[in-house]
Amino acid sequence: MNEFDLIKHFFSRSTPTYDLGVGDDCSLLTPLAGMQLATSVDMLVEGQHFFSDVDPYLLGHKALAVNLSDLGAMGAVPRACWLALSLPRVDTEWLEAFSEGFFHLAEQADCPLLGGDTTRSPQGIVISITVIGQLKPDQALLRSAAKNGDDIWLTGQLGAADIALRQLLGDIPTQEKLLAACRPALEQPWPPFRFGASLAGVAHAAIDVSDGLVQDLRHILKASACAATIDLHRLPIAPALQGLPAHLIHQSVLSGGDVFELCFTAAPTQAPQIQALAAAHGVEVTRIGSIHKGQGLYVRDEESTRLAPEQGGFDHFS
Ligand code: ADP
Ligand code: MG
Repeated sequence: MNEFDLIKHFFSRSTPTYDLGVGDDCSLLTPLAGMQLATSVDMLVEGQHFFSDVDPYLLGHKALAVNLSDLGAMGAVPRACWLALSLPRVDTEWLEAFSEGFFHLAEQADCPLLGGDTTRSPQGIVISITVIGQLKPDQALLRSAAKNGDDIWLTGQLGAADIALRQLLGDIPTQEKLLAACRPALEQPWPPFRFGASLAGVAHAAIDVSDGLVQDLRHILKASACAATIDLHRLPIAPALQGLPAHLIHQSVLSGGDVFELCFTAAPTQAPQIQALAAAHGVEVTRIGSIHKGQGLYVRDEESTRLAPEQGGFDHFS
């Protein structure tokens, strides 16, 4: 199978008539009047972001999911995506499953694949996806938009992806039941991107938790020049973690990456509206703390003592 057959067979599906998809030198995107475009690109490298033997259907899903997560964290509605794929060889079974997982989510997200590039890379698989979303001007959920007195909210639950990853890496002993319960969070995340888009104009700052709650929340604090306190006992811990040592749970919940949930801030007066939007989108939301004047991130335990968090998140170059 040559490059052109591969593209035609696996990556050409119908696209909206007002745009132009796969098959020409460029795709064509028709901007909607009065809307601002949000763009993001993310790369997944074999051995770095995923295990070589990961289920290709789940990989296709996750590769797009992490990009949709960025759109949601900006308050943008998905519009279209592009896929650059670098493969050591043409494995049709792998491509079949990968493209199925990819398109299943793309169709659910109403985010057609308009083009891409396909090359050979002897070193391993590299997947790069570009997404474009749209939103009303001045409604983006900027990291710099947190305000003194804001509530800090989190969608979904924490800890499962990290506990799955640690077991797969051999950092902690594998328990079959625990791994089975935690693995979907790592391998098939469902970021609340529709809910994120609905927060545009309602919430202030937002970020998706890709590198760990502590590290990602710190990005908001730095950009917004404010401090935050989060309550340890309010953090939504994935039920699968029950029974694990407390220090391990805390570490995974505070610093574990690959979560793809949203952390956002909003004025306390918006709480009923946020609860209503979350219910409408079937998303679990928890108020985990608040923004205040000062610097840094504080984690308050049950005794209400303030702990300066020592843990960071995941940093590629640390
Ligand atoms: P060019 O050489 O002009 O860059 P290519 O031969 O790379 O064009 O690609 C041919 C067409 O197929 C283009 O429309 C491109 O966007 C699309 N395409 C290539 N690879 C992919 C892919 N992995 N997924 C979706 N579309 C792709
Ligand atoms: Mg090309």
